[in-house]
Amino acid sequence: MNQFNTEAEKQQYYIEQMGVWYQERKKELGRDLSCCIVTMGCQMNEKDSEKLLGVLESIGFVETESEEADITLFNTCTVRENANTKLYGHLGYVKKMKEKNPNMIVGLCGCMMQEDIVVEKIKKSYRFVDLIFGTHNIFKLAELLYHYTKSNSPIIDIWEGTTEIVEDLPSDRKFSFKSGVNIMYGCNNFCSYCIVPYVRGRERSRKPEDILKEIKQLAAEGVKEVMLLGQNVNSYGKNLEKPVSFGELLQMVEQVDGIERIRFMTPHPKDLSDELIEVMANSSKICHHMHLPMQSGSTKLLSAMNRHYTKEDFLNLAYKIKERIPGVSFTTDIIVGFPGETEEDFEETLDVVRKVKFDSAYTYVYSKRTGTPAAMMDCQVDKDTIKDRFDRLLKTIKEGSRDNRKHGVGKTEPVLVEAVNDHEEGMMTGRLSSNILVHFKGEKELVGKIVQVKITEEKGFYYIGEQING
Ligand code: SF4
Repeated sequence: MNQFNTEAEKQQYYIEQMGVWYQERKKELGRDLSCCIVTMGCQMNEKDSEKLLGVLESIGFVETESEEADITLFNTCTVRENANTKLYGHLGYVKKMKEKNPNMIVGLCGCMMQEDIVVEKIKKSYRFVDLIFGTHNIFKLAELLYHYTKSNSPIIDIWEGTTEIVEDLPSDRKFSFKSGVNIMYGCNNFCSYCIVPYVRGRERSRKPEDILKEIKQLAAEGVKEVMLLGQNVNSYGKNLEKPVSFGELLQMVEQVDGIERIRFMTPHPKDLSDELIEVMANSSKICHHMHLPMQSGSTKLLSAMNRHYTKEDFLNLAYKIKERIPGVSFTTDIIVGFPGETEEDFEETLDVVRKVKFDSAYTYVYSKRTGTPAAMMDCQVDKDTIKDRFDRLLKTIKEGSRDNRKHGVGKTEPVLVEAVNDHEEGMMTGRLSSNILVHFKGEKELVGKIVQVKITEEKGFYYIGEQING
């Protein structure tokens, strides 16, 4: 990297080199070259895919929805065992596409590629794959493509880990009016069922000035809402030379003109601070929605999950937040069927759900994940029991959420209009500060605007409303 001052400069060099290659290919083919990025998994992956697309478009590629493109990248997820099997299944189709267009470039990146066993399987059974890279070096796409086009042989570049954060790379956002913003990468929590710390590495936070620079740029481009992203945002800033707490960062973001809404994902109950609650309570921009993954209501299971809080801790935290931020919307993540889960444990989970009354929840059937401590645990719960518990859990969540909904009817609230409703002609869809969806009559020109909507009806997990002008 001797002649480059920064990694971003170096990658810019490779983007330009690939730009030359692109123009030659375009001349040969007499058309633009297309690119397709298939994203699996979480918002962190969505954000990474925006960066991958930004690099490809800077080279000259034109995005297409079709996987039969000149370059197709699969940004993979490995949070569940079946995510891997699904990808292997799909690669069968990709092989046929490559047989039809041998010049097609096929790339695999993301969390799944951080597993040695996966890379070995790809090398052995899917030899048509041209590029394999991981989560720590997605910024190197242009450089890897350059070496691939020079050598015309598969490029595999997987990093064990990294302390590096590369700023100032091109990115192409999915939405004009809202954007995810990475504030940190990795996770040090090692929950016993989770593969993320093994594939996303150790926690490292971006400098606040880099985050603010990105958000000011987004505001200048018309973005109204930002979602601050991290596996555990509470840990933000701990590894910085001058540590900054998450609450302090939120207060800095609050000062950015043009940004009207701030969201964040994902806090961890074990270290959610009073400072954060105070900052949320006193803010005019931080949305009144708290996604707080509970996973289980059983203190025994929470300990086996290595979650570092008890049932009482979680309940007291929820009550404290509800008291300090009246009307705050609570959502959560819950795992059913964790090894050793008894009927009593499950009843504890239902008890918390009834007491907290979540507005919605991501509910998961426990999935044994090779490589995690939980995969070695005995007492795996049988399928029928899991199915029965899962249905009872959904019913209990729905009851609580429906109760909450009733309180919203009749109120007029600001709504960020997100899309034309694709189910009903003439209807628009938007989100309240609580993150709850509301559908109302309106024109497509409203997309990206914040309008006042009177809630007229509740429909379980969403509302119907009417726009209030003036
Ligand atoms: S906090 Fe736990 S569940 Fe969340 S990413 Fe980290 S290890 Fe996984």
